[in-house]
Amino acid sequence: MRIGPYTVYALQAGWFRLDGGAMFGVVPRVLWERRAPPDERNRILLGTRCLLLIGNGHVVLVDVGIGTKYSEKFADMYAIDQREQTLERGLEALGLRPEDVTDVFLTHLHFDHAGGATRWAEAGRAVPTFPRATYYVQRSQWEAAIAPNPRERASFLPENFLPLLEHGQLEFLDGNVEVLPGIATRVVNGHTRGQQLLKVSDGNHTLLYAADLLPTVHHIGLPWIMAYDMCAQTTMEEKTLLLEQAAEEGWWLFLEHDPEVVLCRVRKTERDFEAIDRLTALPPQSPSPHSQAS
Ligand SMILES: [Zn+2]
Repeated sequence: MRIGPYTVYALQAGWFRLDGGAMFGVVPRVLWERRAPPDERNRILLGTRCLLLIGNGHVVLVDVGIGTKYSEKFADMYAIDQREQTLERGLEALGLRPEDVTDVFLTHLHFDHAGGATRWAEAGRAVPTFPRATYYVQRSQWEAAIAPNPRERASFLPENFLPLLEHGQLEFLDGNVEVLPGIATRVVNGHTRGQQLLKVSDGNHTLLYAADLLPTVHHIGLPWIMAYDMCAQTTMEEKTLLLEQAAEEGWWLFLEHDPEVVLCRVRKTERDFEAIDRLTALPPQSPSPHSQAS
């Protein structure tokens, strides 16, 4: 798939599981368990799907999965599965080494999005995984991560992001900005302060990396909001605004955590939104910008 100068890839950096109730907030289990069957510990399967853009002299990654710095206990708690798919292997399959990556956008610093930003150089000393890359984070997200509130603390692990600052590879962004031609941030604050979604557009085709605003295809329904979110009402308002625009302009939404659906578009219903054009892999050609929702 191409957008403007960029060839677009989806890289699966492995799998993990989170509590189904926490993933769907106030939605009762009888409704979500049919769509996302839980295991014996009530956890549902989730992917960590990264976006890779190659073009214009850049190799750009958006989010980097859980990485490799976790303990056995942590792996068991979250059912981390990287037996087959890892970010490194995904890059390797395209002939890329970590040194080739020029830009890394971290939507936010929760471990399932930013864990792969660093790796252990030796026990207890983490270094940036991509030694030549500039890493981009919203300043307000950084501030939330280095002084976390008690409810969010377990998601922010300092070894995932402090080394980026120490190695001078971090660039702070403030709000919505076009960082590279056709690649712009869209900041939302309901899930965590200063989460940046990435919008890739050539004026004709638009793809939005929806991160934890819309972690799975089920979260397109307005009441389907994670209990993890710091402010559910803000998320609902941010979803409404974004989905209005996505429906109107035929955006492709890239889903980071959905175990099956990689891309979808949306259409407005009487009181809500629903997913259409669900794709389980990126199309080889650029899809038409406005397929009629019918
Ligand atoms: Zn998150």
